[in-house]
Amino acid sequence: MTTPSPVPHSDAPRVHVGPLLLSGAAEGPGLAAHRARWGTLPRASAADLAERAEAVGLGGRGGAGFPFATKLRTVAAGGRRSAVVVNASEGEPASAKDAGLLLTAPHLVLDGVALAARALGVREAHVVLPGDRPQVAAAVRAALAERDDPRLRWHTATATPRFVAGQSRAVLELLAGRPNLPVTAWAPDAMAGLHGRPTLLSNAETYAHVAALALAGVASYSRQGSREEPGTTLLSVGVGAGGPHVHEVPLGSRMVDVLPPQAWGRPVLVGGFHGTWTSWDTLATATVSPRSLAALGVPLGAGVVHVPAPGTCPLELTARIVSYLAGQSAGRCGPCANGLPALAQAVTAVTHGRPGAVDRVAELTGLVAGRGACAHPDGTVRLVRSALTTLHTEVGAHAHGWCTTATAVAS
Ligand code: SF4
Repeated sequence: MTTPSPVPHSDAPRVHVGPLLLSGAAEGPGLAAHRARWGTLPRASAADLAERAEAVGLGGRGGAGFPFATKLRTVAAGGRRSAVVVNASEGEPASAKDAGLLLTAPHLVLDGVALAARALGVREAHVVLPGDRPQVAAAVRAALAERDDPRLRWHTATATPRFVAGQSRAVLELLAGRPNLPVTAWAPDAMAGLHGRPTLLSNAETYAHVAALALAGVASYSRQGSREEPGTTLLSVGVGAGGPHVHEVPLGSRMVDVLPPQAWGRPVLVGGFHGTWTSWDTLATATVSPRSLAALGVPLGAGVVHVPAPGTCPLELTARIVSYLAGQSAGRCGPCANGLPALAQAVTAVTHGRPGAVDRVAELTGLVAGRGACAHPDGTVRLVRSALTTLHTEVGAHAHGWCTTATAVAS
């Protein structure tokens, strides 16, 4: 039996009006309101779109942060019929930023996809919908029904409700009619993706930025953010199982201005279930910047900022997350199929203060890291290692049979 996620997938995140992508969030998701705000879709070549993306350093917003311009140029240079895919499946339970975007501004995402398809001379675009967020899937279908994109046919597919189903190769497997699970990639998607064709595969937020750059222009887009990192990013900011708030934040903003009051003085999980436990001291002086956060050893990933509910022990939350992640593996690679359940048991043993449990966790992370066909084991190891370092006070307390959170609550 698989362990349920300690943070449920949210189908109705609270979306806040933002400065760019979410500027029309209060006006409704309809096409008329969208066109009134953003205007009609311009024509743009692949070179033009890549130049705009490069001018602002647009990285993919699905977690990996790969430069969009490089991806687009690689697909355009493929010399064969290419494919265009938007991954809106958002398998990470603590993330709801793509869900929030699609519920309030679906046409900005679809504009980005349509622009890329036109630029590449592609006649069919694929939209991968989340299997565990029916309201989001319905919102996208309603938006697609409104559109009239000349010479472009839209196809939808629904992802399996599973953490690893949103991984890029898993998405391509789904579209190819095979099980929605990750497989080993021998070449980048941009070179050999769907049916071996050069494939432009990005997540919903990335395509929305592409559309904003084309519709508003680089200069207008760059009014947000910092000189080094223009633009904005979407964050899913959640406390416990309450469902995240989706905020659009100019890059370079102070992290403390984004964090909810419950985060103050406490460790925060940044980057989601494959992310990094981060101390309050680190976040108090950090900015919302993929580059500077990466330099601090805290990758922003898919933009998740998760705070344990008051009274919840972050170490025990980590054990529940690892148990959930162990059950989400496709079970195809040994380190993942056998290593992650063992790691989940070992992390749980740390929460019980069992002697030798920390050493066992260290041993297992070494055995699992770098050995899977996809990033699932490595992401899980990143989470666990960050827990052992950032939550060292909690680890020490549990080893002596008490819990810092319980004490804090009792006092
Ligand atoms: S590492 Fe795990 S999730 Fe990834 S392909 Fe292998 S078994 Fe599947």
